Amino acid sequence: MPEPGHGMPSGARPMNLLRRVASGLRSARTWIALGVLAPMGMVAVSGLMLADLRRDAWATAEQTSRNLLQVLERDIARNIEMYDLSISAAVDNLKAPGLAEADPRLRQLILFDRAATARDMGVMLILDERGDAVGDIAAVPPRKGNYADREYFQVHRSSAGLGLHVGRPIVSRLDGERMLPFSRRIDRPDGSFGGVVLGTVKLSYFTHLFSEIDLGPGGAINLYLTDGTRLMRYPYEEADLGANIAQASTFKRFLREGRGSFVSTSARDGVERSYTFARIGTLPLILNVALSTKDVEAEWAAKATIIGGIVLVLCGLTIALSLLFGRELRRREAMRAEMAALSRTDALTGLPNRRCFEDALRRALDAARRDGHPLSLLIVDADHFKRFNDRYGHPVGDAILQGLARCLATSVHRPQDLVSRIGGEEFALLLPETDEAGALRIADVVHAEVSKLTVAAAGIGAGVVTVSIGLACVRPSGDRSATLPDPYRLADGALYEAKNGGRNQTRSVAPPPQQGALQLVRTS
Ligand code: GH3
Ligand code: MG
Ligand code: MG
Repeated sequence: MPEPGHGMPSGARPMNLLRRVASGLRSARTWIALGVLAPMGMVAVSGLMLADLRRDAWATAEQTSRNLLQVLERDIARNIEMYDLSISAAVDNLKAPGLAEADPRLRQLILFDRAATARDMGVMLILDERGDAVGDIAAVPPRKGNYADREYFQVHRSSAGLGLHVGRPIVSRLDGERMLPFSRRIDRPDGSFGGVVLGTVKLSYFTHLFSEIDLGPGGAINLYLTDGTRLMRYPYEEADLGANIAQASTFKRFLREGRGSFVSTSARDGVERSYTFARIGTLPLILNVALSTKDVEAEWAAKATIIGGIVLVLCGLTIALSLLFGRELRRREAMRAEMAALSRTDALTGLPNRRCFEDALRRALDAARRDGHPLSLLIVDADHFKRFNDRYGHPVGDAILQGLARCLATSVHRPQDLVSRIGGEEFALLLPETDEAGALRIADVVHAEVSKLTVAAAGIGAGVVTVSIGLACVRPSGDRSATLPDPYRLADGALYEAKNGGRNQTRSVAPPPQQGALQLVRTS
């Protein structure tokens, strides 16, 4: 036996595929599946696109933060370095020979560098070992004052070799401004403490530096000392200055990593921010630029809401339309099936009609020929039916026909038996795999059932309605190619005999195997 597909013409397979696609497109299930899967695909693609946009927003924000941090860091580092150069110069120049005897104005010129008079620089003082001001960039003779109580003074007095010391912010005793003190120790030739050169940077320098920058409503720039003291915050709030956040997890991370970025929730206000941070040079200063997550994603979130909303609405509509379309297809399919069933059903009795009977007869004949089984057919015709119509009227006639239909239906029991109404008062019982004897038994049952039929409304009692039955049984010969005689024609002939024989009886005919001639078998 050849395998399926072998010997198929080359165009057959694509044709098959096309047919399958076409039949798939007619199925409601396909449309519902497409209508649900397509929007799901759309949602997935939009989701990926939005995720990509979000990544872009973050990449841009992080890049901006890094650039900004770098610019600020350089500005601060350069200014402090210049200032430190002035402080170092003063420390060195104090050792200049003959300085003590020099004219105070000349002394001033030797000690102080003009760079230290820049706008954001505060005071610059030389303090002796007792903390008294002995040099002042802004005044000759120096403005009087003792600074022995200041932290920076005490730190230098107690330890040598600190280099540049950055202290906690102070309020200047000379002009009341907030300042960040930078100081270096003056060593005597023998190494003992000889005083301090102090320079201060006004905190307003940082305020000016940060103020031009737009970081969004939740953004911030912070400058810390490495001990956790907040030197400056932008946007500026008085209460923030001097606060110590050494214990906050964000600050610990700044210290530990030195430079980098991460997202965390602020210990100060509970806002989630992306922090980009760096230590400024070798100074004990940490600068960070913090953007609130909400600001970073604000533009994206607005876009995502609109795009997501549109996609969801469109998907919802597509799904709804597909479901409606699928339902409509199903409804039509059900209607078509119902119409098909109706077109094969007799309206009055609910039995299969003549068309259905003819199809069934054809199939039954084929099966009989194929399987070699006998096939029997009864044609049942009401006797003198015209008279009932004439006497009781058409509606009663109809009621009798319905009663007859019930009698016939109760006379057969096998699922393959078919009872149908094939004409006005003419019915057929198609009995596959039934020999003549069996068919005769059924005919007897029919007579018995009909004899019980009554129509109480019309006063028709039992035994009034009778039927004549023509019976044909065909039995295929061994030769499968031989055509079987037409059982309908045979049964009709037998029915004619039954009518002629006085009605209310069955006549049967079994054709001789080859010629198909009528042969009277039995009369009841
Ligand atoms: P016979 O015993 O020879 O069969 O006589 P008959 O009167 O039954 O036969 P005939 O063929 O002369 O008449 C059949 C009648 O059946 C004619 C028609 O009025 C009636 N008839 C056919 N269809 C229907 C129907 O659907 N309803 C009713 N009430 N009568 C019908
Ligand atoms: Mg009749
Ligand atoms: Mg008739």
